[in-house]
Amino acid sequence: MTKESIKKIIRNQEEFFKSYKTKSIAFRIDSLNKLKNSIKSNEDKIALALYKDLKKPKFEAYATEIGIIYDEINFHIKNLKKWTKPKKVKTHLAFLPAKSFVYPEPFGVVLIISPWNYPFQLLIAPLIGAISAGNCAVLKPSEVAPHTSAIIEKIVNDNFSSNYLFAFSGGIDINKALLSKKFDYIFFTGSTSVGRIVMEAASKNLTPVTLELGGKSPCIIDKDANLEISSKRAAWGKYINAGQTCVAPDYLFIHKDVKDKFIELVKKHIKEFFSDDPSQSDNYCRIISERHFDRLISLMKHGKITAGGEIDRKKLYIAPTIVDKLKFSDPVMQEEIFGPILPLFEFDDLDEVIDYINKNPKPLALYYFSQNKKSQAKVLNETSSGGVCINDTISHIASPYLPFGGVGESGMGMYHGKKSFDTFTHYKSIMKQTTRFDIPIKYPPYDDKKLKFIKMIYK
Ligand code: NAD
Repeated sequence: MTKESIKKIIRNQEEFFKSYKTKSIAFRIDSLNKLKNSIKSNEDKIALALYKDLKKPKFEAYATEIGIIYDEINFHIKNLKKWTKPKKVKTHLAFLPAKSFVYPEPFGVVLIISPWNYPFQLLIAPLIGAISAGNCAVLKPSEVAPHTSAIIEKIVNDNFSSNYLFAFSGGIDINKALLSKKFDYIFFTGSTSVGRIVMEAASKNLTPVTLELGGKSPCIIDKDANLEISSKRAAWGKYINAGQTCVAPDYLFIHKDVKDKFIELVKKHIKEFFSDDPSQSDNYCRIISERHFDRLISLMKHGKITAGGEIDRKKLYIAPTIVDKLKFSDPVMQEEIFGPILPLFEFDDLDEVIDYINKNPKPLALYYFSQNKKSQAKVLNETSSGGVCINDTISHIASPYLPFGGVGESGMGMYHGKKSFDTFTHYKSIMKQTTRFDIPIKYPPYDDKKLKFIKMIYK
């Protein structure tokens, strides 16, 4: 793909956008249905691509990448007419008898860049928002998951005109070439470091951005937690996709009174999920690349491995691992882990945990396991994070009724459900004034009477 073809695709999309076709509700619904149907007819190929890229189990491929997309498309189709209607709002006394509206309009041509860990879902979910809001879109799936990137390219480019939607395959040079162009909106999912590059590029054209980034999401197990359930849900959230989940519990704080029991329970659940030898399990993913494998191995060098620890570089396999006896200054606590390594820290006082969390960048997710409503409220009130799940992990991001996004270094902007429509929409404020008469107060020359009147209105 040459720089010339990138330029041409963007120019053609700009032209197509100006035809106002993408603004038609029927066109948007038709496109969403077309997208859904083409995913349906490629379902097995998508699952196979995810298996080739990550050894993703079929169940996870459907639950976390494909099925969730059908749900999101259905939600948008069901609500689109309501969302696209201009909304009447009150008019301020000073401007009566005018009428006021908020009028949703698409931005134009948007760019969507996605990562490799849920490589299908994280590209298609924002695309649904872009389509339902009436935009054209240029897509760049991650080159690190090449099989999924190829099937996305096929689904999008075989079924839609490139004047409307187009997916570019290729490496970072393509990302860089795309980021050097002017878009009307950029939606980026990936690391905090690349997020900075994207925002810098966007700032040159004052392009608005959504940045869905990562970070270290803490998981707290308090002494009154239901240990059987919390250990199961924490282990599930950590080891799904071999820990390569942006909202995976990155590290655990466990109350000292329940620590030993909790560790034993996590070990039990690892066995239940993946058998005695997870390397032989069909339910356990692989690390995406040698680069990430080597990075993860280097994080396992400190502390004491109390479960797992087995590795096979040729198969990019790292067992579900628990590491204890760590210091906060160890390398595993200096970066997002993004792999199946679970560091543990014990605590006695919840305030110290909150203090540690607040001293570090705001996380994308925070998990708190406790039966105590007061301490649940305390954690909610005294910490800031993109989202929170009480007594569960990850599930809060899968609901179309809960907006998903980060805060601070874990990102800006939100999507899913109605928020995806909002993200790709500019809400234009409209005031319709009458010409039947004209109140003279606002016009010069001003006098004391006018001043008195305006002071009465704005007091
Ligand atoms: P990444 O930042 O390395 O890559 C993301 C995208 O950016 C890819 O498409 C890649 O091609 C592109 N890219 C990489 N380097 C670039 C550069 N120099 N210039 C321009 N584009 C560049 O992230 P990743 O390794 O693919 O994914 C892992 C990260 O993404 C983790 O930090 C994870 O937490 C985060 N993530 C966040 C979410 C979320 O929804 N918040 C979801 C999944 C992953």
